[in-house]
Amino acid sequence: MDAVVAALEEQLGEKRAALAALTEALEAARARLATDEALIASADKQRNDLHVEIRTMNGQIEHSRDKLNRSRTERETNAAQRELEELRKLMRDREDEITRIETETAPTRTQIGETQAEVERLAAELAAQEGEITEKVKQLEADKTDAGGGREAISKKLPVVLYRRYEMIRGRRGTAVAQTSDGTCKACNMALPPQLFHKLRREPLIDQCPSCQRIIYFVSPEPQKVD
Ligand SMILES: [Zn+2]
Repeated sequence: MDAVVAALEEQLGEKRAALAALTEALEAARARLATDEALIASADKQRNDLHVEIRTMNGQIEHSRDKLNRSRTERETNAAQRELEELRKLMRDREDEITRIETETAPTRTQIGETQAEVERLAAELAAQEGEITEKVKQLEADKTDAGGGREAISKKLPVVLYRRYEMIRGRRGTAVAQTSDGTCKACNMALPPQLFHKLRREPLIDQCPSCQRIIYFVSPEPQKVD
């Protein structure tokens, strides 16, 4: 009965862990999404600023062209041409910068799409599992109560000394009962004194393993498989 409760508790723990892992994965995906979106927002702002600068430069280039057209001396022409070339170079730099930003952020933009899909998938899975797991947890809790519920009635039928010994060993070792089929204790794997093993095998009786102190009894070995 105590083993059943322990097994149910383990199952409960696994279900809760599964739910926690799913929740954690969803939070991680959302965090990644937020980071990537912030990165893209900052890149977009940079790109917009560059576009604004390019528009300003277009105006300046117009202005320089006018100057070039109106220039009357070679010196004025040269100066206007230099200015024009300088402005065109500055504009090209900004266009290159925009291309660079777009190239560099392309993988992140793709990643955002993928992460969004992942977030949706995890959220849907979590919603589905949550209902299922909550139901299962409730069932396991109920089973646990049932399994533990008859315990008191049974424990009252046991000799007080035996029950106290059982509880003491269980408290110390986790489980209080061991079996033997071949002369070794199945709980601690230590060999039993031959005399004790013979006694356990001969008579329906219980004793204690001298190594781990668990309450021990004999069970017939599994029948050998014949090929
Ligand atoms: Zn033992």
